[in-house]
Amino acid sequence: MQPDPRPSPPADAAQSTTKPVARIYFACANRYITVLDGRPDGSIARCPQCGRSNRLPPRTETSGDRFFEIAC
Ligand SMILES: [Zn+2]
Repeated sequence: MQPDPRPSPPADAAQSTTKPVARIYFACANRYITVLDGRPDGSIARCPQCGRSNRLPPRTETSGDRFFEIAC
């Protein structure tokens, strides 16, 4: 009796958790950027056009993405 060759389980099977992100539309750059949104005190989003840093409001949810529009 020969052992069955089994495929190894997918490596990402245990990594089903996705990090929350914040999507920000910068009006002055006319671009969307995505930043990791894991900081409870508010993540920093930097405008790709003028370089101004904007602190996002603190998270109240534990999961889910957020969307912001910033005009700097
Ligand atoms: Zn800007």
